[in-house]
Amino acid sequence: MIWEESSLFKNAVKQLDRAAAIMNLDPNILTRLHTPKRAIIVSVPVRMDDGHIEVFEGYRVHHNMSLGPAKGGIRYHPDVNLSEVSGLAMLMTFKCSLMSLPLGGAKGGIRVDPGRLSRSELQRMTRRYTTEIMPFIGPEKDVPAPDVGTNAQVMAWIVDTYSQIKGYSVPGVVTGKPIEIGGSLGRVEATGRGVVYTLIEAAKFKNMALDESTTVAIQGYGNVGSAAAKKISKIGCKVIAVSDVSGGVYNKNGLDLDHLNEFLLKNKVLKGYPEADFVTNAELLELPCDILIAAAMEGQITEANANNIKAKVIAEGANGPTTDNADEILFDRGIHVIPDILANAGGVTVSYFEWVQGLQQLFWSEKEVNNKLWDIMSNTYGKVQNIAVEKKCSMRTAALITSVDHLSKAMLLRGFFP
Ligand code: NAD
Repeated sequence: MIWEESSLFKNAVKQLDRAAAIMNLDPNILTRLHTPKRAIIVSVPVRMDDGHIEVFEGYRVHHNMSLGPAKGGIRYHPDVNLSEVSGLAMLMTFKCSLMSLPLGGAKGGIRVDPGRLSRSELQRMTRRYTTEIMPFIGPEKDVPAPDVGTNAQVMAWIVDTYSQIKGYSVPGVVTGKPIEIGGSLGRVEATGRGVVYTLIEAAKFKNMALDESTTVAIQGYGNVGSAAAKKISKIGCKVIAVSDVSGGVYNKNGLDLDHLNEFLLKNKVLKGYPEADFVTNAELLELPCDILIAAAMEGQITEANANNIKAKVIAEGANGPTTDNADEILFDRGIHVIPDILANAGGVTVSYFEWVQGLQQLFWSEKEVNNKLWDIMSNTYGKVQNIAVEKKCSMRTAALITSVDHLSKAMLLRGFFP
């Protein structure tokens, strides 16, 4: 099948199979989870600023909707393809189920380098993509959100396009919207904040200090990585390295994040930041540190570098940053990996809060959002940690077992159609 081609999809299936074997999962449920429910491929023609037309390829995949409407981000990146989006949709199914959210798994994207487009080209592309996937999305069926290369502004254009065509305002068609049009306080920082919440719980379990003696390296200083950096430095840890697509910056005495953010605002990329040494993205992963946050892209920690990683704890801010073989190496080496479907679930959890607030037309304070997020993240972490100890398995397999147990019960109760 075409959606099985990417390593991300294959990895997700391997993780599922490993958990299924330990928990004796009903083989019919396993078969159904191996493939997405449906997928759409769309052409997205865009008139560029100079008048010529370019056609981009877009996708939206629904993996499983047994628990509720599908939920998952939209990615604008040159490597996006149907199989990668399908693997990410599968991870969303597991993530929503793990967090006990009444939501299924979806993902979408356009194969494009958004940095190459002007703001108006980006807007025209987003609006056309929205109309092409329109039959697939809606507040009761599939609610997209931001992912790599998209943000609150892109979500605002989707809301407007969908609403213009419907003839009335439908803010509930996406989450991750700007506050002014129904977004939730705390959503922008939610994923990075959630990563740190899981690290707080992991530190308790590992009896590890989280103070100025604790060093942190972060691959990917985007939405997730920068929010995680801010939060973890606020609780007293020392962020010694961060990176973006241009490479990384490293200062063993700790980075001044305010100064670095100012530099980034002016220069757009980290390369050239004067108060630190330059390291490549690959070198950053192998730096001496206590905590490594992988918050860039998939497939970064592989068989080739897993043995060189020095961190004691890895939090997967990104989706699928560790390959299956690397996972085994890290487990054998006793490195505590907080898997993506747990570590970065703060984003979808606050997206769920945004959806609920929108339905009720009653908005919560940021403190309320963060407190509710803390409750869900720390409870779920505890459940997963207990399973990992009980089954003597990795946190990833334990997270999959917890998630698939919940999901399979729902699928069995609903039964098989026709
Ligand atoms: P983003 O676009 O805001 O940031 C991505 C960062 O990674 C940027 O700094 C970019 O320069 C860097 N980057 C891109 N390609 C890279 C590469 N090959 N090597 C190193 N760095 C690279 O995206 P984001 O929203 O922060 O998402 C990052 C990861 O987190 C993705 O895997 C995404 O699926 C996942 N995630 C995001 C959210 C969310 O709420 N935004 C939620 C859950 C998971």
